[in-house]
Amino acid sequence: NVVPEVDAFTVDVSIDGLPLFKSSPKQLWPIQIRIVELLKHPAMIVGTFGGSKKPGSLEEFLRPLVEEINDLQRRGLKFGDKQISFSLRAFIADSPMRAALRAAMSFNAKHGCLKCTCVGSSIEVGPDSRKMIFDSINAEPQHQRHWPVAKIMLDEFVRQSAKYYGRSNLISNVYNIQHIAEEVFKLGPLDSFSAYEFENNLRFVKQCEKSGTKTIEQVAGRLIERGHIIKAYNGRVQSYPQLKA
Ligand SMILES: [Zn+2]
Repeated sequence: NVVPEVDAFTVDVSIDGLPLFKSSPKQLWPIQIRIVELLKHPAMIVGTFGGSKKPGSLEEFLRPLVEEINDLQRRGLKFGDKQISFSLRAFIADSPMRAALRAAMSFNAKHGCLKCTCVGSSIEVGPDSRKMIFDSINAEPQHQRHWPVAKIMLDEFVRQSAKYYGRSNLISNVYNIQHIAEEVFKLGPLDSFSAYEFENNLRFVKQCEKSGTKTIEQVAGRLIERGHIIKAYNGRVQSYPQLKA
């Protein structure tokens, strides 16, 4: 029954897969949201898939979320007499999940970069062991006209990486550093789209699950309980590193 002070809700969505036991393929794929205008408020788990393997169809997994987001973007939200607009800003996920959500090839594939048209090369790093590396900088960059100093330095880091750490170090994670600046231009400070908070929630979801049956019901029950606790504390408890302004 609280009317928010802001006029708009801009939402980030985070999705991650969560294996439950080492011994079983059972897994959860929680969907979380966070409102950019209300960063002091905790990230919320708004849905989860649960099953003995990955969701069989992306369509089935994402359709309800897509419908709901589209509907909220059209109609907005109403708190008493106050109308609040709703818009989706970004999906925050790790490399394998970003590829999965876009039904694209793996981040480790030759054409695995989701940001540009670069092509990776598979190199040999040992007997029977190969690695995909990415060594082109600014292959048809999108949108950016002015690259700030940070961008130049990050590029330089990637470029020099091979020299100091070896060419086999140019794995997806290192290579992707050159793309961080673009994301900051688009989304704002790193903290505002960091995955730490979502990952914290995943740990909580994992702890919720005590026996192998009625997984979703157990998670839902614990989430409701935690909702009451968070309400009682009136805000989120931060237990992960954050940049100081
Ligand atoms: Zn790229």
